[in-house]
Amino acid sequence: MMHILLMGPPGAGKGTQAAKLVEQFQIPHISTGDMFRAAVKEGTELGKQAKKCMDAGQLVPDSVTIGIVKERLAKPDCQNGFILDGFPRTIEQANALDHTLNELEIKVDRVVNITVPSGDLVSRITGRRICKGCGATYHIQFNSPATEGKCDECGGELYQRDDDREETVTKRLTVYTSQTRPLIEYYQDKGLYTEVDGRQPIDTVFAAIVSSLRGEAE
Ligand SMILES: [Zn+2]
Repeated sequence: MMHILLMGPPGAGKGTQAAKLVEQFQIPHISTGDMFRAAVKEGTELGKQAKKCMDAGQLVPDSVTIGIVKERLAKPDCQNGFILDGFPRTIEQANALDHTLNELEIKVDRVVNITVPSGDLVSRITGRRICKGCGATYHIQFNSPATEGKCDECGGELYQRDDDREETVTKRLTVYTSQTRPLIEYYQDKGLYTEVDGRQPIDTVFAAIVSSLRGEAE
């Protein structure tokens, strides 16, 4: 049984680590985005409400979000645990999650935050390039193609997503940091919080996460 809350700014390598955790513990990775898409697709009552808000360009209210989380965590594949990613984002959501988990008689084992200084994240994210032809991803610094601006796989043209432009990234990170600070304190107070330096190699980051989880399970 392993119930993990995974935190980390965009570009910190959260997806990579989540995939490794799925493999290691055989538990589902539940990201907020996937959860919403599934609820909308299944056409559940909450999914319909969420879709209405999203179509209108509004934020989905906490009551709907937490309802969707609750439905998801009650599914059979979460019997042995889960990795919840991207939720909670606010103290209100954290309180609501506590309440829901109490009802489901579940305890969070660890809250793992993969941290990377904002400056490093900006260069990580703004260096990303994607192939117009096949969707392969590159990085101008860490994983550059043989020919600048051309895909190694299909020769397609590489481009930068709008989301990956410096101005957008900086803004997103500022919002993320200010949103996250109170959550960090919240989980520190509960003795559940672990911070892992995301600048280390992937396997080192993973080993640090696993040892923090093991420490708690003993
Ligand atoms: Zn390509």
